[in-house]
Amino acid sequence: MVTTHKLNNRALASEKFSDGRVSRIPSQSEKTNSSSPSLRDLSPRDLPWDTHRAESDQIASNYKGSEFERYAERIDDCSQLLAFGLVPNVDEGAYQLKLRTARFCRVRTCMVCAWRRSLMYKARAYKALPKVIADFPTARYLFVTLTLKNCPVGELRESILHLNRSFSRLTKLRHFPPIGFLKTVEVTRGRRGDAHPHLHVLMMVPPSYFGVNYVSKKEWCAWWKRAAKVDYTPIIDVKAIKAQNSPLGLLAEIVKYQTKPNDLIFADREWFLEYTRQIRSTKAFALGGVFKDYFKEFEREETTDELIGNDETGEGPDEGELYFGWRRSEKKYRMVDN
Ligand SMILES: [Zn+2]
Repeated sequence: MVTTHKLNNRALASEKFSDGRVSRIPSQSEKTNSSSPSLRDLSPRDLPWDTHRAESDQIASNYKGSEFERYAERIDDCSQLLAFGLVPNVDEGAYQLKLRTARFCRVRTCMVCAWRRSLMYKARAYKALPKVIADFPTARYLFVTLTLKNCPVGELRESILHLNRSFSRLTKLRHFPPIGFLKTVEVTRGRRGDAHPHLHVLMMVPPSYFGVNYVSKKEWCAWWKRAAKVDYTPIIDVKAIKAQNSPLGLLAEIVKYQTKPNDLIFADREWFLEYTRQIRSTKAFALGGVFKDYFKEFEREETTDELIGNDETGEGPDEGELYFGWRRSEKKYRMVDN
């Protein structure tokens, strides 16, 4: 997982060697005043910290005063202080920031945790994929979206169950093509205040899928209609991933969010609270076929180290440590004393 970023040397311009390296770490007094450097100025590629921490503030405020007060407290405490190691980058003659310590709340709707988890899945996929590709060098990948009609948010849990049962019936059809698949449930907020749960499935298919065993969209649609036992024609989407393209990015993308941040943040509070009640203890994704073996790691509980991203190798020791605290009113992390 890549979590080291080149420091923005312009932010420390007065403290640079002529070759561009950062010459010293800002002093303690510099760190505590209001103009202490922000994380995003020192390391622009760490901007997602600001973005997601601000999203989580919104989420937490929606939980305040509800039966989920405890979630509000946990999300409020999440990733308030970040410790980064200063790692010399020999190639570029500069320092990089690398996250060393942080505390995560692991509430499902926390956007910081969702983001860190998505990086973790990407790292896990990155490790697993070479073996899949070596064992199935000619396999191809499809990205299939299966939808059903929207439901009231109060029926979300039942609708997700129906989707999952329908998918299970689909996989039992005789000509169901994939050798392996990863299925995720996504929920979007409908314009009329309803909910739109649907499935994203990354499928690995044999090369013959694009020959004698081709399945047209019309056939997929008929199969899905039968599996879901509905009397209307459901909307589906089937995309083939180009033979030369890796499914890695897509794989990481579909396990990223069960619901996109904006759909939660801008939902009315009642929708959001009901959503939280409904998705409790529903499974976010499932593996099938040979993916059950190759991506076994996906089902393992995450460790704090994985959320931090401590699995890199071949790096030198840290030459210092920088701490950043969340400034809620500014929506920025700024350097602080530990
Ligand atoms: Zn969190």
